[in-house]
Amino acid sequence: MSNPAQRANKLFVQTFGTTADDLYLAPGRVNLIGEHTDYNDGFVLPAAINFHTVIAVKRRDDDIYRAVSDAFPGDIKEWTFGQEGKMDPDDGWVNYLKGFTAAMAVTGLTAKGLDISVVGNVPLGAGLSSSAALEVAFGTAVNDCSQLRLSPLAVAQMAQRGENQYVGCACGIMDQMISALGEQDHALLIDCEDLDSEPVHIPDSLSLIIVNSNVQRGLVDSEYNLRREQCEAVAEHFGVESLRHVELCQLEAAKSELSDVCYRRARHVLTENRRTQHASHALEAGNITKLSELMAQSHASMRDDFEITVPEIDTLVEIISRVIGERGGVRMTGGGFGGCIVALVDHALTDAVVEAIESQYATKTGLEATVYLCSASAGATRVDEEVY
Ligand code: ADP
Ligand code: MG
Repeated sequence: MSNPAQRANKLFVQTFGTTADDLYLAPGRVNLIGEHTDYNDGFVLPAAINFHTVIAVKRRDDDIYRAVSDAFPGDIKEWTFGQEGKMDPDDGWVNYLKGFTAAMAVTGLTAKGLDISVVGNVPLGAGLSSSAALEVAFGTAVNDCSQLRLSPLAVAQMAQRGENQYVGCACGIMDQMISALGEQDHALLIDCEDLDSEPVHIPDSLSLIIVNSNVQRGLVDSEYNLRREQCEAVAEHFGVESLRHVELCQLEAAKSELSDVCYRRARHVLTENRRTQHASHALEAGNITKLSELMAQSHASMRDDFEITVPEIDTLVEIISRVIGERGGVRMTGGGFGGCIVALVDHALTDAVVEAIESQYATKTGLEATVYLCSASAGATRVDEEVY
C-alpha cells in the first residue's frame, strides 16, 4: 500500500484537479509517565510516535481555506481566514483546523489561504492524539506557507488555544508540544509550569509498545473535571497557585486537615512529578530496572490514589508485567477510564508480550486488545513524498 504522503498527494489531485505544492506531517504521541500532572504545572514525559497525519497543500492568493480528509470522505470544507464564526458541531473534524486559524486571527496574525488534503495513520480517538497531530500538521503548513516564522512551540501553543477556545476541549499543552517538538529515539521531559523541555534518549535496547484496551470510555469528562477540582482544592488549602508548589512533607503534615480523597489525589500528583523526573534520569542512564519500578509505582498510584484505572486496564498491565519483570516498564497512559497502556520492554521480549496479550486478555476481559508497535519519532516537519 502507498504511504500516507503518496495518499495525501493522490487525494489532493482527485479533489482539486491539480498537484499540491508541499507536504507536511505531524506525529501522534504516547505519554511514558507523568499523568494528570500537566494541569498541576508539573512534569510529563511523552514521546512522538511513528504514526502520522500528513497534509498536502497548495497556496492560494486569497484567504480562503478548502480542506478534505480521507478519514471523512464527503464534501470539501471551506472557510475564510478570520471569519470562522462559532464552532459548529456539524462541521466535525474541520473545526480543529478552523480553531487554528481563529486562534491566529485573535492573536492578530494573518495568513494566506490553502487548499488541503489530509491523510493519516494515527488511529482516531484511540488516545494517541490524532487531534493534536492534525492541528500541528496544519499549523506547521500555515506557518511555513505564509512565512510567519513561528517557533514549533508557538505553533503548539496556537494549536492548543484553538482546541481550548474554538473546539471547546480543555486539553493541556502536552499533546501539541510533543507533536511539534518530538525528536527521533527520544522522549521529551516537559516542565508544564514554564514549558521548558529537554529531549531524553530512549535506550536502543527498548521496544515501545502501546496497547489499546478497547474499553468503551465513559464518564471521562466529569471524572476529569472532578480530579482537577480536587487538585485545585488542595492547592487552595496551601494558599498556592498549583500543586507544583506543595512539598510531599507539607502534604503529609496536613493530612488530617484534608479529606482522605483529596489527600490521595494530591499524593498521586506530587509523587508522580518525582517519578517523572526520576524516570527521565533512569532512561538517560539506561537503568531499566529503575524505569520498571517507577512505571509500576505510577500505575499503582493511578489505580489506588487517583482512581482512574478500570479492571480491564489493570488486567492488561498485570499480563504484561508478568512477562517483562524488571526488563521493562508498563503502565496505563492517558486520562484514564479505559484507553491505552504503554510498555517499554527489552526487544527480545516483544513477541512474548504480544503473545501473552493475545492468549490472555480476551479470555480474562471479553475484549480484544489492539497492539501498536511503535518507535519514538521526530516532530512536525515539511516532508518529501520520496523520503517519507
Ligand atoms: P484523539 O486525539 O485521542 O485521537 P480526539 O477525540 O481528541 O481523539 O480527536 C479525534 C478527532 O480528531 C476526530 O474525530 C476528528 O474530528 C479529528 N481528526 C483526527 N485525525 C484526523 C484526520 N486524519 N482527518 C480528519 N479528522 C481528524
Ligand atoms: Mg485529542
